[in-house]
Amino acid sequence: MSASLTVLVPAYNEGEGLREFQRRTLAVLDGLALSTRILYVDDGSSDDTWSVMGDLARADARVGVLKLSRNFGKELALTAGLDHCDSDAVIILDADLQDPPELIPQFVARWQQGADVVAGQRLERHGESWLKRATASAFYRVMASLASTPVPRDTGDFRLMSRRAVDALCGMRERQRFMKGLFAWVGFRQEALIYQREARFAGRSKFSYWRLWNLALEGITSFSTLPLRVATYVGVLTSLAAFGFASWIVAKTLLWGESVAGYPSLMSVMLFLGGVQLMALGIIGEYLGRLYMESKQRPLYLVDVHAPAHGSASTTVDAD
Ligand code: UDP
Ligand code: MG
Repeated sequence: MSASLTVLVPAYNEGEGLREFQRRTLAVLDGLALSTRILYVDDGSSDDTWSVMGDLARADARVGVLKLSRNFGKELALTAGLDHCDSDAVIILDADLQDPPELIPQFVARWQQGADVVAGQRLERHGESWLKRATASAFYRVMASLASTPVPRDTGDFRLMSRRAVDALCGMRERQRFMKGLFAWVGFRQEALIYQREARFAGRSKFSYWRLWNLALEGITSFSTLPLRVATYVGVLTSLAAFGFASWIVAKTLLWGESVAGYPSLMSVMLFLGGVQLMALGIIGEYLGRLYMESKQRPLYLVDVHAPAHGSASTTVDAD
């Protein structure tokens, strides 16, 4: 039996572009000497994505579909998809054709040469604003200096993973999921494949700056406790400075006496300390909040409908 490959496609309101996606992807898969499948994950879309997926699944027996009960976000849509793949390798592809399916054979070749993870690394970002490029670059720099497992630069979710890498990833059931970090954490033999990221085929990006900022916070807090330590150091430094300043005031008063003055200095010290305390509390709060969410042990996502690809056999639809 030949090795199997699943192309995993998370989609949220991508109805417009999916047909073109399937046309291009199947054309590539046809040329591979593997048993191939496509698994679409509908992440609670509000447009016609789900009905388009239904059509696409009917049109080709290699296509399976999974519908989540609501919009859980790309990270969880990916997790759901990976949980429902049983092939020897999985390739994650965005539905918007920003990651060209024509590169799949190159990924597969690297995998067949023994790589466990082949990650697409963006050479240039076409169709993305200057601001997005600058913020993304800043983020990778911060992550590199904070996190204990460095996140490779400019690698998105476009990647191929071997069975054991997928299994390792599926073993991590944390709710605050920062996939880029988890991918890196898994380890094994990881390789980068440089490619040009295209502009979107249709629709628009689902990631607003606010969402990206929150994703960045998620990344930092799930892979580093350094901010907590920074809060400690800032506290220690401020106490030392305060101690020095207090000694100086006592000495000054003893030596020269004190006429009541110093409202400005009093005020600035008070405000400064107040600010430092609030900041430290905020940092602790960020971590505590995540601990709280984690402690609830809710399921990561809920599946509405799962209709796996059925090859040439009859359709099976199970709702769970
Ligand atoms: N996506 C998803 N759930 C979401 C947001 C996005 O499944 O809540 C999918 C989306 O349909 C696309 C991929 O994730 O296939 C990447 O999204 P997008 O193109 O908006 O991100 P960008 O390329 O701008 O980073
Ligand atoms: Mg995109």
